[in-house]
Amino acid sequence: MSTVQRLQEETYDVLVVGAGIGGMEAAVSLGDMGFRVLLVDREPSIGGHMYLLSKVFPTLDCASCISGTKMSSSSHHPNVTLLPYSDVQEIVKEGEGRFRADVLERPRYVDPALCTSCGQCEEVCPIIVEKENDFGLRGRKAIYIPFDTAVPKKAVVDINNCIYCLQCEKICPGNAIDFLQTQKEHRLAVGAVILAVGYDLFPAEKKAEYHYGEFDNVVTSMQMDRLLGPTRPYNAIMRNSDGKEPQNIAYALCTGSRDRSLGNPRCSQVCCMYSMKQAQLILGSLPAANVTLYYMDIRAYGKGFEEFYQQAKAMGVNFVRGKVAKIEQKESGDLEVYHEDTQGKGTLEKTTHDMVVLSVGLIPRPGIAKVFANKELKLDDAGWIQLADENRSAVVTSIDGVFVAGCATGPKDIPDSAVEAAASASECAAYLLRTRGAEGLGR
Ligand SMILES: Cc1cc2nc3c(=O)[nH]c(=O)nc-3n(C[C@H](O)[C@H](O)[C@H](O)COP(=O)(O)OP(=O)(O)OC[C@H]3O[C@@H](n4cnc5c(N)ncnc54)[C@H](O)[C@@H]3O)c2cc1C
Ligand code: SF4
Ligand code: SF4
Repeated sequence: MSTVQRLQEETYDVLVVGAGIGGMEAAVSLGDMGFRVLLVDREPSIGGHMYLLSKVFPTLDCASCISGTKMSSSSHHPNVTLLPYSDVQEIVKEGEGRFRADVLERPRYVDPALCTSCGQCEEVCPIIVEKENDFGLRGRKAIYIPFDTAVPKKAVVDINNCIYCLQCEKICPGNAIDFLQTQKEHRLAVGAVILAVGYDLFPAEKKAEYHYGEFDNVVTSMQMDRLLGPTRPYNAIMRNSDGKEPQNIAYALCTGSRDRSLGNPRCSQVCCMYSMKQAQLILGSLPAANVTLYYMDIRAYGKGFEEFYQQAKAMGVNFVRGKVAKIEQKESGDLEVYHEDTQGKGTLEKTTHDMVVLSVGLIPRPGIAKVFANKELKLDDAGWIQLADENRSAVVTSIDGVFVAGCATGPKDIPDSAVEAAASASECAAYLLRTRGAEGLGR
């Protein structure tokens, strides 16, 4: 492992951890108020889950267009500094309005100042591995630019898969490749912290009866959002087993949510709506297809959601109330879906589909609590960040001066994540002014 280069102490008003839509919104809001913000993300590009999505419910606006604008304004804001590909190691509260944070920046092995993102290194690199952002639907090279609209749009070497053939170094016109780069430790003095670490996807293979990872034509909803997105891998919706366009697609809602047998009794709040969104987009691409949603209840609670549900029905999406019990695979790759017909005879039914999409739930990223060295960041019984008093504020945590934004406290959709991020920025600004006085503004 490379050695660590310790950098001189840097001072910011606020450290924002996580640069999905929640973190970016909070950082830009605080920047607009005059506070100096450091926005850290562990990935080589900012953007979180939103830029991976196709469109957003219920308006069907382009997700990557909206998040792309926010990514761009985060990177160009004079008061916001980006620190991608970095992990927060430790946060110590030293007093009111005073935190010390250690952040480790991983080496990209590419000098961002010299890389022009020409992509020639990707072309010559002989190593292909699964591309994380496409959830296994296509590959990437060991040196890669995370995606076309990445911020920063710079190459990065996946050192664990690199075989040091040096083809990239030979071809790079900017001499940007630098295998001597080391990790950098940033020591920060900040006034407040916002945690916007988002969510993870429920690992679908845990629902053994659905055989995700074993049956080729069982995919997750995130994979389907990629198949439908403007930056999609194949420019078509197709089955993994034979590349055919599916004509009879089933959705198994609540995969990994509202399921005590898997330890998650909670509703993931967005799966009903994103499944209806995908069903409508599929019918836009494949008008002759049948799309069936197997559900327990439809939770269409937000503004415009009920109308969106009715629109899906009017377009011909088939809604069947009954949780999928198990899936079996036929020799042709088609899938038999067993479900209880709870609205009809109450019998167990078996229906054949040529593709099944698992509407996976959202699960917490509890690891962030461990970085607080001398204070306890309380988590709820499911592992999401717990609010100090949910009747008083939606963004105040158990540590004074540490706030939350987006899905860090639990599943929610993009508008709610953005609203919460704005609230977090405003509570954070009030905290800084209270602890430092008005002269603390824009230090
Ligand atoms: C299949 C699917 C489809 C969806 N479709 C829609 C839709 O159509 N409309 C809608 O409103 N919502 C939709 N959603 C929900 C939407 O994805 C979320 O509301 C939104 O992404 C939440 O943003 P966030 O910033 O809170 O979290 P995230 O997008 O998860 O971002 C969190 C960021 O934090 C970073 N991070 C995490 N831990 C650390 C750490 N320790 N240190 C540094 N960085 C860290 C991550 O790398 C990431 O960049 C969908 C969800 C799924 C699963
Ligand atoms: S590292 Fe070099 S070859 Fe690769 S994208 Fe950057 S400039 Fe191009
Ligand atoms: S040195 Fe590594 S990253 Fe560069 S081309 Fe060879 S395998 Fe790919």
